[in-house]
Amino acid sequence: MIRPWDNSLFSGEYGMTWKFIVLDEAHTYTGATGIEVAMLLKRLKARLETNNTIQYILTSATLGTSERDNGEVIDFADTLCSVDNFKNENIIRSERVKLYPPENVCDFPKNMYSELYSCIESYNSNEILYEKVCEFYPQLKIGDDIGETVFDLVSHDSRYYRIKEILTDNAVSVFDIMRKMNMKADEMCDFISLASKGMKNGVMLFDARYHYFLRTLEGAYLTIAPEKKLFIEPRKTYLDSKVFKFSVCRSCGEIYLTGYTAKGEDGLNYFSSECSVDPLGPKKSYMEYYLLDAGKFGIDKDMPSETIDENIISNTYTLCGKCGAIWRRFSAGPSVKKCSCGSRYCTSIIKAADKKYLKLNEFSNSVTVKKCLSCDSSANAGNVLRDFYMGQSAAASVIGTALYGEIPSSKNVIHEEYAAVSCELYSASRTSRPKNRQCGICAYILPFVIS
Ligand SMILES: [Zn+2]
Ligand SMILES: [Zn+2]
Repeated sequence: MIRPWDNSLFSGEYGMTWKFIVLDEAHTYTGATGIEVAMLLKRLKARLETNNTIQYILTSATLGTSERDNGEVIDFADTLCSVDNFKNENIIRSERVKLYPPENVCDFPKNMYSELYSCIESYNSNEILYEKVCEFYPQLKIGDDIGETVFDLVSHDSRYYRIKEILTDNAVSVFDIMRKMNMKADEMCDFISLASKGMKNGVMLFDARYHYFLRTLEGAYLTIAPEKKLFIEPRKTYLDSKVFKFSVCRSCGEIYLTGYTAKGEDGLNYFSSECSVDPLGPKKSYMEYYLLDAGKFGIDKDMPSETIDENIISNTYTLCGKCGAIWRRFSAGPSVKKCSCGSRYCTSIIKAADKKYLKLNEFSNSVTVKKCLSCDSSANAGNVLRDFYMGQSAAASVIGTALYGEIPSSKNVIHEEYAAVSCELYSASRTSRPKNRQCGICAYILPFVIS
């Protein structure tokens, strides 16, 4: 609003014509974003040189669930748009139109879907498609519109009503529908792809939408005995083994188990990825780091050889991979308390305990490893270990990288493909990716690449 170049939008000829302000996905304007947008709208209103009363239109699929929420929806809209005139009757809710099977409902052969769908996707002329439709359903009155033809055809299909019935009350997986309908994966995909193209008088047969859910890494986990198994999602046990969280040395890649030790009711110490001490309580508990591979120090023998550093010997522990019990491997004391799980679960690990290896960060009240026990690499600032936690921005960058990888290398090709993809986007094809063609989403980032 302050850029001279855009001035004409808000004042002069165009500034007089403002009538509507539409906010899509209105439910997202909450919290700090909501306040910012509300302030922006206020400034916009003050800036516009129009005598028209601006009408605000807010759209959302997740704002209020029933008429009982109308009051809150109105409050939300009034606050966001700084007005006081939203009313009950201004709230328009969508209603699903229920389709009832006609009397002459049929059982079409399953190959009909793939044949018709591939006919539409291969950009055959409408005549070829209509010929195909006639093959399967000669009684159908065919109009000019592909969407209406598909709608009329599939709405005569008994299979369509059975699938709708399965989906009436609950979310059902595609595999369950396939099983109940006795359909193969390809047949199901073709059915949904074709039925999704059916539309008549604004009513769609299927409202197919595709969502990708991406989850970022929250850590890496493993079992240590009797076998090593890796997990990238948090878990506590696998079969009869305990699962531990780990980090690796940035330099040599050696694995370090990370976690906390706490005394159990039986007097034994137990090592676990989670801290059992209240973080706000008076007692502090610091993260501990154990080098998993003690073998390279000659620790795997019963008695340590004399060449081994005493520091290493005194910080060697035995960890039970089943119950998580942990005790000093070479204790000077008379009897070391051990668990009864058996030696097949036991592994020797070396604790990074000496000041030489650890750094206390007073500000965050945490401990990090500044020098690797295995390779002696050091990190003066920060941690020599890398954990496997990724922020949410990582997910976006993964998608970005994947999409970038889909872009053809030549600039000319991009222009051609872009034109083709744009046509597709604006054509009737709205639901799925055409075979052997550019991924639809790429079209959104291609303009940036071209520019
Ligand atoms: Zn290292
Ligand atoms: Zn045990």
